[in-house]
Amino acid sequence: MIYNSPRGTTDYYGKDIKYIEFILNTAREMFKIYNYEEIVTPHFEYTEVFARAVGENSEIVQKEMFTFQDKKGRSLTLRPEGTASVVRAVIEHKLFGENLPLKLFYAGSMFRYERPQKGRMREFSQIGVEAIGSDSPAMDAEIIWLLNSLFKNLGFKNLKLHINSIGCPQCRKEYMNVLEKYLKPYEKDLCADCLNRIGKNTLRVFDCKVETCRKILKNAPKISGSLCEKCKKYLQDIFDILKVLDIEYFHNENLVRGFDYYTGTIFEIISSDIESAQNALGGGGRYDDLMEEFGGPKISSTGFAIGIERTMLLMKDLGIILPNFKNKTSKVYLINMSSRFNEYLFGILKFLRHNKIICDTNFNMKNLGKEIKWAQTEGYSHVIIIGENEVSNNLLTIKDLNNFTQMQLSWLNEKAKVLDLLK
Ligand SMILES: [Zn+2]
Ligand SMILES: [Zn+2]
Repeated sequence: MIYNSPRGTTDYYGKDIKYIEFILNTAREMFKIYNYEEIVTPHFEYTEVFARAVGENSEIVQKEMFTFQDKKGRSLTLRPEGTASVVRAVIEHKLFGENLPLKLFYAGSMFRYERPQKGRMREFSQIGVEAIGSDSPAMDAEIIWLLNSLFKNLGFKNLKLHINSIGCPQCRKEYMNVLEKYLKPYEKDLCADCLNRIGKNTLRVFDCKVETCRKILKNAPKISGSLCEKCKKYLQDIFDILKVLDIEYFHNENLVRGFDYYTGTIFEIISSDIESAQNALGGGGRYDDLMEEFGGPKISSTGFAIGIERTMLLMKDLGIILPNFKNKTSKVYLINMSSRFNEYLFGILKFLRHNKIICDTNFNMKNLGKEIKWAQTEGYSHVIIIGENEVSNNLLTIKDLNNFTQMQLSWLNEKAKVLDLLK
């Protein structure tokens, strides 16, 4: 009996792991430079946490959550996104001290019950940051800067930041009226989902993928027309900092994002190298009311998230190759000619690994020529041959695979030379 992984999940190995490792390492390194600290939250929460944060009427909560009951009958949900859990944790542990903003990042699996397609799996991983406790436009600018630099460092080019403001509660309320008035004459042409959204969560109509709805919405009034002076000034302040940072931005008045918790600034980073409609690399925005809604203090926050596997697929599609680590570091393959030499072998392995030299050995005995060939294709820089002659004379035969020179050193009194050669 051969089993397959469940629908919407996949296994990653080989080259994919190298991409994933590169993306995660680059992100972690940058988060450190920008002074964000890691937070780890559970993979599941009480269902209410997501229903409340993401929104009862959102696509995610209504259709895409992995919800189940535990043995005590409590409703739990595998996390469909990262922000709700972080906010729940910050409030639960009262992490909002005097030193605000709290700058956090997270990485891990998320789960959404969607129709699986390329770049959209039921289990996928995200890495994201949350800056909790600042209502300054400088905070928005920093988050955007970090997102933009991250993709730059991953090798993406022709990046453009799309940014919009969905306003404060006051101007959003005014906009809802304007939008509802505009939609009224089209009610018979809207899909059932959109009709249902009107009045409850009217902004969500912009998420609709139905062609007739999209056509109607194309000419809908923009929220920028309803922004109050304060919200306009806020957006302008962000633009001014982005200019200093040389970040190319575009005020995309049609931009909305699929979570209920967003307030004010929202943004997406787009690469013009991607031709499909789904050209956003990652995005985020402000969620100034979420802390309070979760029973915490009124603290303004902002954040972003990026999909790891999606980023990997885009890197492959765009032909972004991973930086070649092979030439930078030595990688040594010890070819042991017989299990009789295991003790000798492990002495050398111990010495090399202690000195942080990447090395491995053949655990199964094959022939020398094949082993050397294999080491070459795997990107090893050196092989060390351990045979009868080496062991009885306390020698190391070291072959440099870049130029095929070979030399013998004494294992007893030339250890420093060995390191010099391999480092
Ligand atoms: Zn406003
Ligand atoms: Zn619709």
